[in-house]
Amino acid sequence: MTNFSFQDRNQITEELKSSQYDLIVIGGGITGAGILLDAINRGLKCCLIEKGDFASGTSSRSTKLIHGGLRYLKQFDFKLVAEVGRERKIVSEIANHLTYPERVLLPFTNKGSLKKWPTRLALNLYEFLSRVDKKDQFKMLDKNEVLDLVPNLDKKDLLGGADYVEYRTNDARLTLEVIKAAVEQKASALNYCKVERFSKIKEAIDGVHVQDQLSNDTYLIKGKCIVNATGPWVDQIRTINNIESEKKLLHTKGVHLVFDKSNLPLSQAIYFDTSDKRMVFAIPRGEKVYVGTTDTIYSKNLENPDITIKDKSYIIDAINSLFPDIKLQLKHVESGWSGVRPLIHQAGKGPSEVSRKDEIFEDSSGLISIAGGKLTGYRKMAEKIVDLVCQRLEVKHSCSTDHILVSGAVKGGLDGFQQFIEAKTPKLISLGLQKDTSIKLIRRYGHNINEVISLFEEKEFHESKLPLEIYLSLKYSLLNEMTLTLNDFFIRRTNALYFNIQLIKNSKYEVANYMQSYFNWTDSDKNLGLANLEESIKEAE
Ligand code: FAD
Repeated sequence: MTNFSFQDRNQITEELKSSQYDLIVIGGGITGAGILLDAINRGLKCCLIEKGDFASGTSSRSTKLIHGGLRYLKQFDFKLVAEVGRERKIVSEIANHLTYPERVLLPFTNKGSLKKWPTRLALNLYEFLSRVDKKDQFKMLDKNEVLDLVPNLDKKDLLGGADYVEYRTNDARLTLEVIKAAVEQKASALNYCKVERFSKIKEAIDGVHVQDQLSNDTYLIKGKCIVNATGPWVDQIRTINNIESEKKLLHTKGVHLVFDKSNLPLSQAIYFDTSDKRMVFAIPRGEKVYVGTTDTIYSKNLENPDITIKDKSYIIDAINSLFPDIKLQLKHVESGWSGVRPLIHQAGKGPSEVSRKDEIFEDSSGLISIAGGKLTGYRKMAEKIVDLVCQRLEVKHSCSTDHILVSGAVKGGLDGFQQFIEAKTPKLISLGLQKDTSIKLIRRYGHNINEVISLFEEKEFHESKLPLEIYLSLKYSLLNEMTLTLNDFFIRRTNALYFNIQLIKNSKYEVANYMQSYFNWTDSDKNLGLANLEESIKEAE
């Protein structure tokens, strides 16, 4: 059990105020989360500070794939392909409730740039370098086999295809489960707490001044090493530390749109090329299909990157040119999200050509910043950073996160998790859930589903007037996942804003009432939460 709730906030705050940390991590996205878990496992006293909700930045706005590194082949970066392949295998073991294989179709068409023989060669090389398991290896498909998988592709243009494996994940929950695993080992982590400025002795940083975004309380947290893992905000943090460097971030925006399967009937994930020679995913998830991404230079508000009509039209045109009979329109967009990539600027390169590699900057003040990279490589990025921190602190422990399970994962890899699903499903069905909802919840919470089940109280459930799925998820997330707002719950804890917007519309008042009594909110607190949720729905639609 994590004991990570609003009730624990005062104690965490007191601890932050009174401790001298070996390491302070700024930023509660996947990069900061990975660093925290690695550091606590090397015996460092460490904390993580996040200005919004955990994963509220780019780490809840990705394509939600643990990639095998196929795209790096195009850049002839064989070392990176091999490293990413290894990482994918590790992440699917240590986060096996959230990361599992999904076969993805690559269609070859007359007008497209993907051709049979070069793709076959590339997939062979890619699978050799990243040591893909036999069962996950690619298959070449003829035209009829492709049409069996995706009947509504343009028949006259289609030549054939290949299907290979990507690993699907849930980015926000992966981030949260990594943080929970660190908190279970007594690391401190706080959301809604913003780093405002640095504390310095002479020119060397020795702490951060923060402001609690709920209470407005300001205080100092002292630390020997400080890591700036703020993704798109890395330059902002370096600026408040008075560091102006030549290396700057390039922000590019990526939009995904969600459609109901009744409008975009697709039950097979597909990765296809667009008329401007980019590659776009369309991935089924339950009753929805999400499609993305765009990749355009972005220089506006980092907190809430927008989704413009141009972004929507780009994605809709890409789908319509592959599936001429589907005729998607703007009105069919059900939801969507927009994220900002924190890339390292490379002179003369366009958004899609810039390397996704991570890079570490050390400033004269002692601040360590990390930017670039991918969700997929979070563990390895963390290892590099914590190696550096250990070197500075003269600590000798080496990285062990390749076999440390994130919160919720079970032993035994993907097979072990499959057995776990089969063992637990009957219990959830006996509480009154449908089979597919039961499996969805077991996939979401992994072995923490035991905790979720134990929170069920018949009387309270009936009084709450909530659907059972929501009641269980809400209660667990309030007690164990530091859920503080309606948006935290509906966006990062459950993903309902993206994949089940109707459920929000149906249950938001009951959820708000339950949260009001849990937090002792006034009516105006509750109405503010509801207004913020409405704003998020408007942005997504
Ligand atoms: P973030 O997740 O943005 O976290 C930084 C955090 O720092 C934020 O939560 C922010 O609130 C916090 N912060 C900022 N300032 C302060 C402050 N002053 N005080 C305290 N906290 C602060 N990678 C993959 O591997 N697979 C994919 O499928 C994939 N798809 C992608 C699709 C898109 C459209 C995009 C944009 C990226 C994608 N990526 C993918 C890349 C991946 O999502 C990012 O590399 C990763 O999420 C970055 O995580 P981060 O922790 O560095 O940044």
